[in-house]
Amino acid sequence: MENIKTQVTQAQHTATKTKVAVAYGDGIGPEIMKATLKILEASGANIEPEIIEVGEKVYLSGNSSGIEKKSWEAINRNKIILKAPITTPQGKGYKSLNVTLRKSLGLFANVRPVNALHPYVQTHFPNMDVVIIRENEEDLYAGIEHQQTQDVVQCLKLITRPGCEKIVRYAFEYAKLYGRKKVTCMVKDNIMKLTDGLFHNVFKEIAAEYPEIKSESQIIDIGSARLAANPENYDVVVTSNLYGDIISDIAAEIAGSVGMAGSANVGKNVAMFEAIHGSAPDIAGRAIANPSGLLNAAVMMLIHIGKANIANKIKNAWLTTIEQGYHTADIYKEGQSKQKMSTSEFADKVIENL
Ligand code: NAD
Repeated sequence: MENIKTQVTQAQHTATKTKVAVAYGDGIGPEIMKATLKILEASGANIEPEIIEVGEKVYLSGNSSGIEKKSWEAINRNKIILKAPITTPQGKGYKSLNVTLRKSLGLFANVRPVNALHPYVQTHFPNMDVVIIRENEEDLYAGIEHQQTQDVVQCLKLITRPGCEKIVRYAFEYAKLYGRKKVTCMVKDNIMKLTDGLFHNVFKEIAAEYPEIKSESQIIDIGSARLAANPENYDVVVTSNLYGDIISDIAAEIAGSVGMAGSANVGKNVAMFEAIHGSAPDIAGRAIANPSGLLNAAVMMLIHIGKANIANKIKNAWLTTIEQGYHTADIYKEGQSKQKMSTSEFADKVIENL
């Protein structure tokens, strides 16, 4: 187990009770949130959840923003959010609440670490260990769309110099802090010469300030193909909003399962922690969802709020559970896993290993 244990060396503030705005979300959200909160409680993390209502239920009650006023108040008071995935209708209906939260709260950096857990979780890439840093407020994801005529629609790709500077600097500072060796920029500036061109130019300018960290740029199409074929060649990847969303799902899936990766949405005053995956309506209510993505997000949250010792304890209990072969259906492999677990059984095993 020693080889994959985490090493965190941050100040410890376990004694302090921390209030966190908690959203149970939609689909598998409530199942994985219940499992995650149970583990947090058992770990002695001393988290006091303040439940906020966001998502489908709120929309269906007639609130078109998907978030109640009192939930905004709780978020602004607590400044830390642990959020399960939310369902957003495809091709019609209300605007994504995830986009609203990230934009309104200025959560400019979306940090998505993905690493292999070889040989316990099946992957072709045993040494994969990549962190995708996704710009979180701009790009096509700003959701600025227009109907020009009945048959012509337009989506605005919005990229700003301050936005590029914030995310690229964040990526290099992250690399420096975590001892990472290389930052790769992914853009499509052969076609989008102004928007992606700006992102690329800012990358080159800021990379020059960090000579100790290797830097490289790739066109997103071949870059994502190479990431899928040889993820072990990547360390930190910085990219714009939509590309980052896509390549982080690819990365998580080839490392074992999209259900495993957590993420931090970081802003100046507020931070939100969530799994990278969605509400998985295809498996909702069946008690088979993997709570690991949300649990890993909670671990990132504990580090963020200065409870690194508890983060370490939970991460190691989780790794022990995976190593023991207690696996949810998405990573279960006949002959290799020991037992197929439900969401709550998996959480109980993690608690046993704390
Ligand atoms: P998804 O990520 O929900 O699911 C994709 C596939 O992965 C499904 O087969 C699902 O069963 C599986 N999967 C996902 N999480 C899993 C887990 N924890 N354990 C086991 N299997 C898991 O993607 P989708 O189906 O395209 O989206 C469903 C909904 O989620 C949509 O409404 C979408 O808008 C929303 N969404 C929300 C967020 C968020 O809240 N941050 C992110 C992405 C998608």
